[in-house]
Parts: sequence; structure tokens; C-alpha cells
Amino acid sequence: MKRALVSVSDKTGLVEFVQGLVDCGYEIISTGGTKKALEAAGIHPIGISDVTGFPEIMDGRVKTLHPKVHGALLCVRSNPDHVRQLQELGIEYIDLVCVNLYPFKETVLKPGVTHEEIIENIDIGGPSMLRSASKNYQSIPVLCDPKDYDKVLEEIRENHETTLETRERLAAKVFRHTARYDAMIADYLTKKTHEEFPESMTITFDKVQDLRYGENPHQKAAFYKGMNPQYSLANATQLHGKELSYNNIQDGNAAIEILKDFEGQFAAVGVKHMNPCGVGIGENIEAAWDKAYEADSISIFGGIVALNAKVEKGLAEKLSKIFLEIIIAPDFSEEALEILTRKKNIRLMKLDTSLSVSSALKYTNVNDGLLVQEMDQHIINEEDLKCVTNRKPTEEEIKQLLFGWKVVKHVKSNAIVLAKNDMTVGVGAGQMNRVGAAKIAIEQAGEKAKGSVLASDAFFPMPDTVQEAIKAGVTAIIQPGGSIKDQLSIDECNEHGITMVFTGVRHFKH
Ligand code: 5GP
Repeated sequence: MKRALVSVSDKTGLVEFVQGLVDCGYEIISTGGTKKALEAAGIHPIGISDVTGFPEIMDGRVKTLHPKVHGALLCVRSNPDHVRQLQELGIEYIDLVCVNLYPFKETVLKPGVTHEEIIENIDIGGPSMLRSASKNYQSIPVLCDPKDYDKVLEEIRENHETTLETRERLAAKVFRHTARYDAMIADYLTKKTHEEFPESMTITFDKVQDLRYGENPHQKAAFYKGMNPQYSLANATQLHGKELSYNNIQDGNAAIEILKDFEGQFAAVGVKHMNPCGVGIGENIEAAWDKAYEADSISIFGGIVALNAKVEKGLAEKLSKIFLEIIIAPDFSEEALEILTRKKNIRLMKLDTSLSVSSALKYTNVNDGLLVQEMDQHIINEEDLKCVTNRKPTEEEIKQLLFGWKVVKHVKSNAIVLAKNDMTVGVGAGQMNRVGAAKIAIEQAGEKAKGSVLASDAFFPMPDTVQEAIKAGVTAIIQPGGSIKDQLSIDECNEHGITMVFTGVRHFKH
């Protein structure tokens, strides 16, 4: 008679699966809670203690950690010596293992959970069985996920056993599963010790969805999310529209990152190719959108819009008039949904604002490597500005300078942003020289450049950017300062009566 060892915390699908095994002639061995659950359904497993001849001890800390279990799981059946030892020691084969683990992740995320409770939810016996049996996948199918129950049962029903291919796939899944489990424990303890950049990284991600393709149609792709849910696109809910694409996800993420810097203000952000094309703030979210749209009503076509307040009817009507890929917001009113869902293709994403804003690290991969840094969460206030020109900025200029500075941080370097009247009027992104970025921003602003302010993500190596700004009618400049040629730029400003402030901080974004 074949024997299956079943020990699960998540009892989803348990009874049906085990009943199926019993019907195929399996004898079932179980641990305490699993046994109880099966007995309640009229199945009568053998208790693990009857197999080991040892009681479950220390509140279940030690139940299956026994040679009678691990000997059976690790025995190579084609090795006569192994088989002989097994017989001599009175150890019987175990032919199938079904184990899932203490809910460590769920425990960590539980509000008000204690450290002791978390530690108690580190499963030791479960992963040990999973790993022992998976090492021996030549002989033993190992299930760690209820999603695999049906397939395995089907194979056993049809052929009395699983195929080697299935067992290999299950074993690979087990090792991913236990690696992920250990990574979560490592992450919890590493955070506790405040070790930010440990000597090795054990980050782990769960698949959200396969994507139709990557950045281009010939590239395969999928989307994964991290273990600690945060205020992000990965944890937003799609309310309507086609599946998100790879580029949608990158752009949506960029839009949300900008929104985060506008906490406490109504802000609307338009993004194209990961750069803001229009950002506006206003006394309500509709007014903020009006500005973001007015900022650049051409580039927003086919773009992504992120808003940090609920979308109501009036705003929905305006948004529905433009071709947009995605609208991201914390909420949509019924009427707004009714209006926006008339468009089949537009994707509507609802942000989960109950989640915390990430202070997680930022990962960028390079070929065969990973760059890890803190997020750029630097924000400045008026007190941080150092005026370096004869003329001091007016109150309105200060407001626009701080606004422009918030936006320029999110523009690919070299980056120049022109701002006026609570909106961006020109964005120069990703140029290989700074004055080039300035020229693009100025040209885009056109007439709106007059009386605008200019923000630069890094210092001016030459006075040429200032000269262009002056020609265009810019009245105030914000930049980090720190170039050996700063004085040349300052002199230009003074000569033309414009004002310039230094932040002492730069915002490269490559
Ligand atoms: P049950 O609800 O059947 O009492 O316990 C099932 C859980 O116990 C499973 O999640 C399994 O991974 C875990 N488990 C199995 N053997 C051991 C062991 O020896 N020690 C500990 N701490 N957990 C075990």
C-alpha cells in the first residue's frame, strides 16, 4: 500500500485531494491539525507519532523531524544499500508528500503582530520535508501548492503514478517556494537589524501576470511584485480596460512616483515614456488636471494620467475627451466610472492609499548585476533655498521654483523644467547636454516661457543655459549650484535682473 504524508497549514482543497488519494488506495499520514481536519471529513489518517514512535513535542515545534520520516523521504530506491538500511531500521516508504508552510508572510503583515509570534511562524519541519522529498523527486511527487492537487491526482488515477516530468516540475517549484520562504524570513530579520546593504541579497518577487510582450513585441515579459505591499502600481486594482502592457507599467509607475511628492496638494500628472509631460496643482483635483492638460495638450495624447484624489463626473468628462492609455487615481465615483468605461480600451487603475509609501530600496539591473540604492526621497522647503543673486525671488517665484524643483527630480537627466502658474510649461528630458535640454523646454513653452521659472536637475557647467533662459524671458532659476563656473551664471543673472537660488542638492535620474 502506498503512503502519502500530508501536513498543511493552508487547508484549501485538502479534503478533496486526500479523498482522491484514499480512493486510489493510498494510506494517509498526517500531523495534528491536518489529521483533525481530515477526520472531520470522515477520513482517518495515521498520526505522525504512530509513524515516528515519538510524540509531537514543544507545541509542535518538533513533529516530523525524525529519521523515520526523513529516511523514508531521502532513500534512493535504486540503491540496494539504502533499501537494506531502511528495512533493517523498520522504516517504511513514503510515496507522496503534500506540505504547505506556516503562513510567515501573512503573520508579518498582521497588524499588531509580536516578534515572538513571527518567530513561531518560521516553519522548520515543513520545509525540511519538502526539501528532502524534492531532492528525491526521482521517486516522490511533492506538492506545496493546492493548485497542483488536481493534476497530480489525475495522473495517479490514470497511471497509478505521476510522470517524472511532473515530479521534476514540482521539485523545482518546491525549491523556489522554500527559497522564497527563507528570503522572507531573511528580509524580516535583516530589516530588524537595520542592515541595509548586506553581503548578499535575497530579494524575492511573486508573479502578478504574464505580459503579452516586453518593451517591444519580440521580447517576452512578465510582471512580478515584491513581498511588502506598498503604495504602488503593483498593488493597484484594475477596474477597467485591456491588460496593462510592459510600457504601461513603467509609465504608470513613473507617474505614481511623481504624485508621491505632492502629498497635501491636489496634483495631476501626465506621463509619456516615463517622463512627466504635464504636471499641475490646483485647489481641487479638476483644477489640477486643467493645469496639467494646459501644460502640454499635445504630448498627453496616448499618455498616462495619475491623480491623487477621487475622480468625479466633471473631471471624468474632461478626461474622456482625450485619448489616454491609463488613468490612475485613489478612487472613481460611480458616475465617473460610467463615463470612462464607455471607452473600451482605457485602463482604469485604483490606487490603494491605505498602503504605506515605500521607503524601500531602488533596484536597477545591469547585465549580470544589480545596482541598489535608496530611493531619491529628498524634498526641499523654502528655508533650504540659498539666493545667490542681487534680486531675491518674489513669493510667487518661490512657489513656482519649489514646484519646478519637485518635477525636475522626476525627469530623465539632463533635465530642465519651466514652470509658471502652478504648471509645467516646458520639459526638456534626457539630453546629453544641459543647454540642449533647456532649448527643448523653452521651445516647447513658446510664449509661456515669458515670466516662467526654470529648474535644472544639476548645476550649470557653463553660463549658456542661463543665457538661453534670459533670452526666453525666464525670471527665476533653481539649481543645485556647485560648478566651478557658478559665478559666470550668477553674473549673467545679475546683469539681467533675474534671480537664482541654489538647493545644494542634485537630482540626477539616468
Ligand atoms: P498541522 O496543522 O497539521 O498541525 O500542522 C501543519 C503544519 O506543520 C505544516 O505547515 C507543516 O509545514 C508544519 N510542520 C510539519 N512538521 C513540522 C515540524 O516538525 N515542526 C514544525 N515546527 N512544523 C512542522
